[in-house]
Amino acid sequence: MANVRFEALKSAFSHNFVELRSEGVKDLRSERVKDYFAQDVFTREKMKEYIAQEVLDQLFDDVDNGRTIHRDIAGVVAIGIRKWAIEHGATHFTHWFQPLTGGTAEKHDAFFTLKDGALLEEFSGESLYQQEPDASSFPSGGIRNTFEARGYSAWDPSSPVFLIGDTLCIPTVFVAYTGEALDYKTPLIRSTASLCHIAREVCGYFDKQVKHVHTNLGWEQEYFLVDESLYNARPDLMLTGRTLMGHNSAKSQQLEDHYFGAIPARVLAFMQELEYEALKAGIPVRTRHNEVAPNQFEMAPIYEEVNLSNDHNLLVMSIMERVAEKHHFRVLLHEKPYAGVNGSGKHCNWSMQTNTGVNLLAPGKNPYQNLQFITFLVNVLMAVHRHNGLLKASIVSATNEHRLGANEAPPAIISVFLGKQISEVLDKLEHASAEEAIIINAKKEMKLGVANIPEILLDNTDRNRTSPFAFTGNRFEFRAVGSSANCGAAMLALNAAVAEQLTLFKEEVDARIEKGEPKERVLFDVIKKYIVACKAIRFDGNGYSDEWKAEAAKRGLDCEQSVPVVIDRYLSESSIKMFERTGVLTRAELQSRCEVKWETYVKKLQIESRVMGDLVVNHVLPAAKRYQTMLLQNVLAVKQVFSADETASLNEMDYHIIKQIERHSGAILEGVEKMTEARHKANRQPNERTKAVAYHDTVLPLMADIREHADALELIVDDELWTLPKYRELMFIH
Ligand code: ADP
Ligand code: MG
Repeated sequence: MANVRFEALKSAFSHNFVELRSEGVKDLRSERVKDYFAQDVFTREKMKEYIAQEVLDQLFDDVDNGRTIHRDIAGVVAIGIRKWAIEHGATHFTHWFQPLTGGTAEKHDAFFTLKDGALLEEFSGESLYQQEPDASSFPSGGIRNTFEARGYSAWDPSSPVFLIGDTLCIPTVFVAYTGEALDYKTPLIRSTASLCHIAREVCGYFDKQVKHVHTNLGWEQEYFLVDESLYNARPDLMLTGRTLMGHNSAKSQQLEDHYFGAIPARVLAFMQELEYEALKAGIPVRTRHNEVAPNQFEMAPIYEEVNLSNDHNLLVMSIMERVAEKHHFRVLLHEKPYAGVNGSGKHCNWSMQTNTGVNLLAPGKNPYQNLQFITFLVNVLMAVHRHNGLLKASIVSATNEHRLGANEAPPAIISVFLGKQISEVLDKLEHASAEEAIIINAKKEMKLGVANIPEILLDNTDRNRTSPFAFTGNRFEFRAVGSSANCGAAMLALNAAVAEQLTLFKEEVDARIEKGEPKERVLFDVIKKYIVACKAIRFDGNGYSDEWKAEAAKRGLDCEQSVPVVIDRYLSESSIKMFERTGVLTRAELQSRCEVKWETYVKKLQIESRVMGDLVVNHVLPAAKRYQTMLLQNVLAVKQVFSADETASLNEMDYHIIKQIERHSGAILEGVEKMTEARHKANRQPNERTKAVAYHDTVLPLMADIREHADALELIVDDELWTLPKYRELMFIH
């Protein structure tokens, strides 16, 4: 009988670059980006050709100021959209939304209805505005009882509609009829509105010209590629997105020769097509390179407004999967597809920017802007300090759990890296007097007196890779976010935390100014107080070290590692108060989100555990037994040929391996039994949270035990009998 692994290998070797070109994979060298950028997007520019100017003026004004779009406007816009879409080959449309399951969801409808038996091409304002997907199978964490309140999706006009193939996609929010958010987009939009509002008010202390503030996101998407045939021969990759077993390859990432190395031809062809498709969809992807682990890569766009950027990230993830298939690859977005090598994250570069073009997290072009910069910086530190547990909750999941704290990724403790220059500025401010600290010129502009901040920060290049939240010169980089995550979860928590913090800051400052204290004195006092108060969150050292874990606990930072318990942080009184105060999420919405998170955690582990049982019993043990039988036959044969004296030493090696196989196989069988029992027990827990905790505490460790024995067998058993593609094959074939 053919060994599945060797069949897969044979097929993988045939997927070479030359082969693919002959299969018609597009050669893009002759195309110019400016000719196809945003070709599939109904941009504001294109809207002018299809929609009357006064309607557009109203639409853009409403969008830019966060107002609800009037239904009459939607009706007119819908006609323009339909015309453009049909001209570009669309036959269907869908609302495109972001349920709590992760990923995106679509329900396609054709652009026609029947009227008196005749076919009528139609796309009404109503269809643009609102759709009712059969939403009962999307998780709601108990909010949307199927009988009483249905869910609907509603147009988000701040993100442009776009085409995928024959389908017009309309970015939408997804909410219950009772108003609660059932997605990531709704609270993300709410959080941006809240932050932008208060940030603008705080800007008022420094610059009256600022009318509007928005937040930016630039994500860096890491991913693995694996040949499709090998992927198909690994049930664990197919069903769980990661390898549940596999002995480390002798050569892995030690030499770091892959990082920033030349991109292999077949991978490059994939990347080129991916970029082409992404650019056509208006996603400004700009950077591509190899990552640390073999077959690991990264792509990053130019940053955009956070809601749009997040839509673009979700879209890229689905484009990746589609393009990969064309190239006989599978893309792995799981945070830790392979144990023992670098995992995948999605660094979220985040900043705030004014309509006057000032980045509030960049040192100013003139010294007078630096006080504003320090004000925003210190308030972010305060927010991260106050809500460090919650920010961790915003990035945890069953999949990211394997990456956090795994010694080559951000640790499971949130701290902030500032770099030497900024740290020095804060230290000086802490010890300065008000007179030294703030200097006012004749125009009543304030500047920092104690320290000069160069416009370009050296620490920009000081890459402390171990920090989960790093200041990188003109932005914060939230690095703990997982590669498969919807960035919205992390961004909305950060936005909301900073919004709350700025509100507290403004209240305190205003109260004292009202009492007659001079503005600059008050600003200085409060900033100084904050610098002292949030010191515990600042850490520039090695985040992976054990000393840091001990130190962080002493500082009172959240050190919890268990994902189901970290999720509790959403429901702490300080989190609920913060989310309610900023209008981002209600208590009920938070509760429902946690329910969904625990439920998802349980389901993922349940699937993994079952797949694990199946793999060891149906793949690993049979291969081991077969090899053991071969050895036993050899032992008998030796006995027949040689004398009893000679037999003992000749068979020594075989005896040893036979016993090892017996030991590991026995341990595996016992482990599977225990794991199944633990699963059953966990399933009987009274609620999703206790179930998730039980899975974490009992099932997960047993899976690790089983894996250890399976991996040991992989090293012993004859290579020809092993049926699962090995790490070296998964990671080095491209
Ligand atoms: P790195 O060296 O960390 O890989 P890159 O220059 O590749 O940094 O940028 C990473 C991401 O950060 C990109 O998406 C980039 O557009 C984004 N970025 C740069 N400046 C800002 C900013 N001020 N705010 C938000 N994102 C930014
Ligand atoms: Mg990068």
